Amino acid sequence: MNQPFEWRAAPKADFAVIGDPVKHSLSPKMHSAAYAALSLDLSYVAIHVSTGEVELALNHLGALGYQGVNVTVPHKEEVLNWARSPDEFALKARAANTIRMADRSAINTDAPGFLDTIEGRAPTGSRVLMIGAGGSARALAIALVLKGYSVQIHNRTRERAVELARVTGASVIESLDPADCDLIVNTTSASLSGADLPVNWDNAKPGAIAYDLAYAPQKTPFMLTAEAHGLKAMDGRELLVAQGARSFEWWLGRTAPRDAMLVALL
Ligand code: NDP
Repeated sequence: MNQPFEWRAAPKADFAVIGDPVKHSLSPKMHSAAYAALSLDLSYVAIHVSTGEVELALNHLGALGYQGVNVTVPHKEEVLNWARSPDEFALKARAANTIRMADRSAINTDAPGFLDTIEGRAPTGSRVLMIGAGGSARALAIALVLKGYSVQIHNRTRERAVELARVTGASVIESLDPADCDLIVNTTSASLSGADLPVNWDNAKPGAIAYDLAYAPQKTPFMLTAEAHGLKAMDGRELLVAQGARSFEWWLGRTAPRDAMLVALL
């Protein structure tokens, strides 16, 4: 685990991830492994920024010479106030996770990164049960619907699922029933507190994939229960690599060493 810097005490570096909390972020380890694999003389650090201070912090990092910044919870929306040219998808998702300091541009690599990770696992057009209606769910639902998947959303707070379905073109499902779904995605933060979700796994399609966006040293309760019902389960590490690799490529214009990045997380 890396000790993050407070933004006012940030060192000179090339890239960073900002968030609150940001202590648990694996991005510095992953990006540093990528630089080492390609013998690039670059540095990447974690920086703690409180809500309401994102613009001040980014101006400060820009003055220190940072080239790019990843943005994590809870600043993915606030950063859009600072960006001069957020791309169309980031605006629609109301979330950017990657910014370039030179032209204050902002993109979202979470959603295309997520699509990278399901390629070959859930065919385009297939049915997806999405659990949760927070920031990640919003970006993923927009991307999945645009790509032609049939997305059903279930959320603990039903009104948020209804609102998300309205803006994305997905539908709401009242119970956690994965019947006919090729992919069941847990976008909730339940796993972070060790909680399981009452999915009716008995109805799941054989061969369906249970995908938890969260990652931890051990499998999450959601993954363990899905596996106990014969499903394949995956956690959020591949997504972390996919979105990080896309950020790396956007900043540096060269192919990211995905294998080295994944190994750094294991
Ligand atoms: P948000 O805070 O925006 O949304 C959280 C969602 O989780 C809400 O829908 C909330 O429901 C639901 N929720 C929280 N606790 C529970 C519970 N105990 N039972 C059921 N539902 C619950 O979070 P994000 O969308 O930003 O992130 C969600 C998860 O995705 C986190 O675990 C995060 O670490 C992970 N993530 C992983 C990434 C990766 O690279 N692997 C990238 C991005 C996110 P309600 O509306 O009722 O409050």
